[in-house]
Amino acid sequence: MAKDIILLGPPGAGKGTQAHRLEAEHAMVQLSTGDMLRAAVKSGSDLGKQVQAVMDAGELVSDQLVSDLIDDRLDQLGPDTGAIFDGYPRTEAQAHALDDLLDRRNRKLDHVIELEVDEEALVDRITGRYTCARCGAGYHDRYKQPETAGVCDECGSEEFKRRPDDNEETVRKRMADYRAKTAPILPLYDARGIVTRIDGMGSMDAVQAQIEEVLKA
Ligand code: AMP
Repeated sequence: MAKDIILLGPPGAGKGTQAHRLEAEHAMVQLSTGDMLRAAVKSGSDLGKQVQAVMDAGELVSDQLVSDLIDDRLDQLGPDTGAIFDGYPRTEAQAHALDDLLDRRNRKLDHVIELEVDEEALVDRITGRYTCARCGAGYHDRYKQPETAGVCDECGSEEFKRRPDDNEETVRKRMADYRAKTAPILPLYDARGIVTRIDGMGSMDAVQAQIEEVLKA
């Protein structure tokens, strides 16, 4: 049976980046509720219309809604593929729902990996980030600008986009939610002895190396 893990950490901690790296190296699939919800908004579906304003304000959507999304995705996952939960669970109710969803499939959580980060540095990281609208390559106002201003290094596109919720006010709201609602679920997993805290402020390679160590355990 493949390993199921949760990547935990405030917005901008690098969970998505690390999840993609894990997908490339292991038989694991990223299950990001944020990505699923953004896809719903983009498609203009009823679900998308329902959640757009909540997401733009940096508020949490309902526990039931995200747990239903995860339920569907788990149905598509074979026993030999591990799940990387990214951005879920975010509340105690979601943590209990996840236990239940995994139990029903005879799966269990092997590791909860918390990326520890400096919040002020994160605000700086998130509020400057943007991506190429065509190929998704990531850039940053201060740390990674395209070689030719306004032209994507990867595909030559001149269109870029920013997440509407990547502004300072919303980012601070999302961080406060992380502290108030998400961090309190850690003791649940601590009691099972499956939590590892790692330094999330190093380079992407350094963070990845620490995660790989955890997965070997
Ligand atoms: P993320 O990409 O994980 O930062 O999520 C973006 C936004 O989607 C969040 O600010 C919430 O509005 C919503 N969202 C994503 N995952 C969850 C979740 N597990 N519970 C509630 N809302 C979520």
